Amino acid sequence: MEMTSLADLLDLQAIDLQIDRLLEQRQSLPELAAYKTAHDEQKRNEGERDQVAAELRQLELELDKAEGELGILEAKLEEHETRLFAGGMSGRETEHMRLEVQSLKGQREAMEEKVLGMLERIDPVRERLSGFEDEIARISGAKSELESSIKGQWKVIDGELARKEEQKLDALVPIDADMLELYDKLRVIKEGVAVAEYDHGVCGGCHMALSPAEEEEAFSTDLPRCVHCRRILVR
Ligand SMILES: [Zn+2]
Repeated sequence: MEMTSLADLLDLQAIDLQIDRLLEQRQSLPELAAYKTAHDEQKRNEGERDQVAAELRQLELELDKAEGELGILEAKLEEHETRLFAGGMSGRETEHMRLEVQSLKGQREAMEEKVLGMLERIDPVRERLSGFEDEIARISGAKSELESSIKGQWKVIDGELARKEEQKLDALVPIDADMLELYDKLRVIKEGVAVAEYDHGVCGGCHMALSPAEEEEAFSTDLPRCVHCRRILVR
């Protein structure tokens, strides 16, 4: 009667070990590690992208301002030139206006160079930004592919797990509560192996031999345990 119960425990353990393996497999898919790497990479790129975007916004504001100033200079210049062309001013006024136009032209040239310089600085920043955007999009695509691969594999594993859990319910039926408690405790501290087959004087759990005297002592109780590893022995 007792032996039957211990053998049942071995059956339960076989199922539990299969469940352990499936759970381990579920959490150690190479795609999961790749997904994490891609996710970190994406975050890093997004951080750098945001910095470059802020830099670009600042440069564009400055460019807007310079272009605005250039526009004002051009309008002023046009107005002055129109007045010069229209004539009707005194000699002094004309000379004053002419000098003003000359000065405005100088300012316009300086401002045009400033704007050109800014455009030259902005272009590489825009390129860097679009480089980050491309990289983020690429990583995002890779993540989606990994995600669907993970989901697909998890679906298969979860189906298998559900079948094993169902088998486990049947395997639990003949096992009494105290035995199950000991079994669960031993599984936690013995790398999932609470019950070991005793074969030709050797414990299947720790693979150590028991002397004939140790064997006799172990199997003289209702609950034979390995003298070395304390696992439950079944022969
Ligand atoms: Zn042992």
